[in-house]
Amino acid sequence: MDKPYNFPLESFMPRERFERIREFAKDKETPCLIIDLEVIRANYQALRTHLPFAKVFYAVKANPHDEVVSLLASLGASFDVATRYELDQLLRLGVSPEKMSFGNTIKKERDIAYFYEKGVRLFVTDSISDIDKISRAAPGSKVFFRLLTEGLGADWPLSRKFGSHPDLARQLIKTAVRFGLQPYGISFHPGSQQRDVGQWSTSLTQVGQLWNWARNEAKLDLKMINMGGGFPANYIEPTDSLQQYSEDIQRFLKNTFGESWPEEIIIEPGRSMAGDAGVIVAEIVNIAKKSVHERNTWVFLDIGKFGGLIETLDEAIKYPFYFTGEGKAVPIILAGPTCDSMDILYEKRIYHMPDKTRIGERVYILSTGAYTQSYSSIYFNGFPPLRPYILK
Ligand SMILES: *Cc1c(COP(=O)(O)O)cnc(C)c1O
Repeated sequence: MDKPYNFPLESFMPRERFERIREFAKDKETPCLIIDLEVIRANYQALRTHLPFAKVFYAVKANPHDEVVSLLASLGASFDVATRYELDQLLRLGVSPEKMSFGNTIKKERDIAYFYEKGVRLFVTDSISDIDKISRAAPGSKVFFRLLTEGLGADWPLSRKFGSHPDLARQLIKTAVRFGLQPYGISFHPGSQQRDVGQWSTSLTQVGQLWNWARNEAKLDLKMINMGGGFPANYIEPTDSLQQYSEDIQRFLKNTFGESWPEEIIIEPGRSMAGDAGVIVAEIVNIAKKSVHERNTWVFLDIGKFGGLIETLDEAIKYPFYFTGEGKAVPIILAGPTCDSMDILYEKRIYHMPDKTRIGERVYILSTGAYTQSYSSIYFNGFPPLRPYILK
């Protein structure tokens, strides 16, 4: 049985796997990230099982480790690529350009040309100026139009910056035709760690209206919808099961498209693919109080916001922590090791540790396989970037 200071391990991973990770990490310097490829394989298969009609474009940015990409490529995944650097990596790993989309709405014309030259023919867009660039640098390519979403219900919203209002999307579709591009589909991202599956319904309703407008008014048959990422990883705030997401989303698709669903339905999971596959092993650097009357104890780790845990900004993502010591539960404030006072992980959400915990002991941060290593800074205060290991 787990003590009150720990989140029940079994709801995040089998205890046996945790012990394997702990053993594997024993001689590794902290902080480090241990990635279990078996979890990624299982997550990919679960998506295929529950959403068999959807083609998976893995969002590389979530965890770009070569072995993660290679595994997913071998399982048949396609890839949502955001930069020429990710493109180069994927080409180096032997991924075919037909299995990629340039999924970033913010791109230089010379980078579009680079993607085109390497064989990529599928591009996202959300503005006239971007369509202009694509038409020059990637003539005749397929384009899909990203819609704005509000990100309500998401722990990490991705709103405002990406996508266009449906009114503008209509103009973009017409412009793309005029510029010799192929309007291919419509995309949206409901917000990352989206805990309200109803957000897919909101966006799909807009997609349906645009779809019908394209057919009836613009005399265009769109072929593809891209329902984004947003599927959850397992953090301390509970979510519905993937099965529930899948049932609801299929119902929304029926409401929108009846029995004639689009030819191609794409999803772009990042977090739900890689999140649960990682454990960060960290060390306690200091345990201290700020005043004699303070109730909470400060616990400083050798990893913080700059070392890979940036998604704790505003305490948005709440990772489960696992302490291996003993004792009664004491309330703590968790903070990182850098000389920046914003480097506090959790201060409002109070975590607990066993009172016999000592400086120098290890702490395990679960479900940290996504958006950690790829976000870690390379030299702040001289700290090296978070080091990943594949569990062997
Ligand atoms: C980051 C991103 C994703 C992945 O989203 P998750 O919520 O991590 O699954 C998918 N699509 C696009 C365009 C993205 O930018």
